[in-house]
Amino acid sequence: MRNICLLGASGSIGKQTIDVLLKHRDDFKLLSFSVGHHTRCIFSLIKRFPEVKSIYLIDKKKAQRYQNKYPHINFFYGEEMLFLINNDVDMVVNALVGFVGLKPTLYALEQNKIVCLANKEALVVGGELVNQLLEKGQGILYPIDSEHSAIKKCLMVDNQDVDKIVLTASGGAFRDYNREQLKNVTKEDALKHPTWKMGQKITIDCATMINKAFEVIEAHYLFNYPYDKIGIKLHDESHVHSYVEYHNGLMRLDVSKPDMRNPIKLALYEYQIPFDTKVVESLDDLKGLHFHDFNPNRYPIVDLAKIVIEKKGGYGAVFNASNEVAVKAFLNDEIPFLAIEEIVKECMDKYQNENINNYEQLQQIDQKTRQIALELVKKWRKQL
Ligand code: MG
Repeated sequence: MRNICLLGASGSIGKQTIDVLLKHRDDFKLLSFSVGHHTRCIFSLIKRFPEVKSIYLIDKKKAQRYQNKYPHINFFYGEEMLFLINNDVDMVVNALVGFVGLKPTLYALEQNKIVCLANKEALVVGGELVNQLLEKGQGILYPIDSEHSAIKKCLMVDNQDVDKIVLTASGGAFRDYNREQLKNVTKEDALKHPTWKMGQKITIDCATMINKAFEVIEAHYLFNYPYDKIGIKLHDESHVHSYVEYHNGLMRLDVSKPDMRNPIKLALYEYQIPFDTKVVESLDDLKGLHFHDFNPNRYPIVDLAKIVIEKKGGYGAVFNASNEVAVKAFLNDEIPFLAIEEIVKECMDKYQNENINNYEQLQQIDQKTRQIALELVKKWRKQL
């Protein structure tokens, strides 16, 4: 029996985690969860998980209202999210989106918890700090991202003589567009992901392909391969979740229909259950899968992952913060689609690297980058 803290319960991964927990009531207790601004699900979650002891939401007034209604539960708000990760919790599922997921990841590892990580930004920004904590403490990290889950499964079977790990990419909403056609695409177009149903931010990140850049960085920190040993292959159907190429010419693929509940379940069971994603009933099921070479000129933003991996320091924080600001501005119709990568590139160019020893430094870089990115958004707004 594992006692769970779920961060980001109201988001896409959070809801699918709830699905998995409900199916396996004997193995997990949901002791605490956070919901941010989307508080409507609190009532049903308390009803379905009567064991819940603490809940976090952002708004103080709402928290006080819920507190009056449910006196047996501790409600936290504002800066108090870390109180959810208390002594009773064994495992933290981090389904937060963006920089905000870094601090609870570091804190949970400091407390020697098991962390199931869907918040890839935590590794993009703080991969070095996360790995230092994993090395010196008893904390454990399991990936929930589908590509990394696939690579982990392959490497668990054989991690010897690996030539390359290759992340598959659907190519996002605009995979059939050339650069010229990207100039006038809209938010509505960008939110139509061809294979996965996900939250808004990650869907835009897929359309710009910065999501794949983030995942290359994530793979680097999870599996310790250098940039040139992490490949990308475009794959239309998202059935092959990623694969490993070995020196002897063998390839090991992880194949299943796209369903995030599979990687979530694997992480919750610490990759110890028999893998039950058997959807390849016969080799005929592999018919009609399409693969294409990745063209870096089509998606220039992906190259920036190399800088983050090789120069380290604060580059990950700059990469992430500039993107968060630009994506938000795009979703608010303030800037055109291609301005997202222009803003990210400009912030990366302006940054002077520094050594990072703690979270506070990353937080400062994050805040400073947000200011610079906001200025760039203003410039773009004037041009529109
Ligand atoms: Mg992914």
